[in-house]
Amino acid sequence: MNFRCVQCGHHIKSLYVQYSPGNIRLMKCQNCRAVADEYIECEIMILLIDLILHKAKAYRHLFYNMFDPKAMNFEGLMWKLTFWFLILDAYRISILLANSGYSASYPSLALLIWGCGKILLDAFVGNLLFISILLLGTRSLLNAFSEVSRYKNIWLAILASSYLKLFLIAMMVWEFPSSVIFIIDIFVLSSNTLALNVISESAMSKCFGVCLCAHAVKFLVSLALNIRLANLITL
Ligand SMILES: [Zn+2]
Repeated sequence: MNFRCVQCGHHIKSLYVQYSPGNIRLMKCQNCRAVADEYIECEIMILLIDLILHKAKAYRHLFYNMFDPKAMNFEGLMWKLTFWFLILDAYRISILLANSGYSASYPSLALLIWGCGKILLDAFVGNLLFISILLLGTRSLLNAFSEVSRYKNIWLAILASSYLKLFLIAMMVWEFPSSVIFIIDIFVLSSNTLALNVISESAMSKCFGVCLCAHAVKFLVSLALNIRLANLITL
């Protein structure tokens, strides 16, 4: 098993010793001498709060210690998360369009369906560029990983650390100004940076540079396609 100490990221064989059901002793890290993973005894809410507070140790627990790689189908999870990531991005584009006042100007059902298809295509193109820049940046700026599984782990970490996008669902129920979307984007960028830092074990500045480039290109492509779509709708 490839567990990690959540404090320093050092490899550790086991996180705890179980004497009897409910009676465990947490192991200490040989590198930093701290308890290797205190989240084992914590409620899930503590982990969620620490993830929102951007604590690196919470991300280490999530990526290395929380799930058993033999019991989990990470490939299937990755495709499911990618699907919902795209849907949430498409929804984000539609909110931005609606807030710009273009949603009410669909003259027919056919054009509405065409508009939805175009939004999904925009989300797909934007994210294709996002993942390409992210993985190329990871390869050139960080260590040159050769294993495909390493790239999959990085993408899964980026997907998992984009959990704040779920806040967009709240926008279906309550009305928020468009600025909230940009605040969510900034939180997702910082969360992605920390996740990349934890999973790649590279310098934070390099991880920030890679994530910033990927997010900036996605944002600019999305903006350009949105302006084009808005122009087509109003024609
Ligand atoms: Zn340690």
